[in-house]
Amino acid sequence: MRDDQQIDQNIEEILDNIKNAAEKSGRGLEDIHLIAVTKTVDVQKMKWVSQKGLNHFGENRVQELQEKYDQFGDEINWHLIGHLQRNKVKYIIDKVQLIHSVDSIRLAQEINNQAAKINRQMPILIQINIAQEESKFGFKTTDIEECIEILSNYDNILIKGLMTIAPFEENIEKTRPIFRELREIYDRIKKNEKNNINMEYLSMGMTNDYLIAIEEGANMVRIGSGIFGKRNF
Ligand SMILES: *Cc1c(COP(=O)(O)O)cnc(C)c1O
Repeated sequence: MRDDQQIDQNIEEILDNIKNAAEKSGRGLEDIHLIAVTKTVDVQKMKWVSQKGLNHFGENRVQELQEKYDQFGDEINWHLIGHLQRNKVKYIIDKVQLIHSVDSIRLAQEINNQAAKINRQMPILIQINIAQEESKFGFKTTDIEECIEILSNYDNILIKGLMTIAPFEENIEKTRPIFRELREIYDRIKKNEKNNINMEYLSMGMTNDYLIAIEEGANMVRIGSGIFGKRNF
């Protein structure tokens, strides 16, 4: 099968799966935002899927995002999903629609500063490391309240929700408690919205585990290899 035909088939299957999982939790396909994770994917394939109506792309590296941005511009909604170094915020602040990976107060502060310079209120998600994996970024669940307290004073960021990356599990059922916990934290913050907090997105679920994540309340999933096939680094 040609690559593009395979991609079409993958998208069709994923949309079908998303629909089924959403219905299990009383929602529909239209309630779930699908982010196509395009890291390492070439521009030709990205053009292909954008023609198919997928126009939210997630990148995890600033340089790659910048290069690709130049080829698409604003016809695509760009999401920064990977760890972001503070000195690189200035390169993406005017390009991305949502930063999923705010994992420290100092990063949030820099985003706030850079956003103020261009008179923007930058939508962000707070990344939480629910499983407390050493290898992953994100706030500890025990620090989240203090984090929200501080970030709610930054006028040039808009806190739109939460993000997590679950540990990889062969048995995907093992990810369910992780997603459930993030959902509970999300609901708690949503009940106490104030200032710049406007909870709308729960970004959790990747190729291996998006069905469980949606069943547990995700409304934004980030899928790469499930759409484009295995990545070649
Ligand atoms: C790479 C990546 C994904 C997508 O992973 P797949 O397993 O290919 O779907 C999602 N989220 C983040 C933060 C990533 O870095």
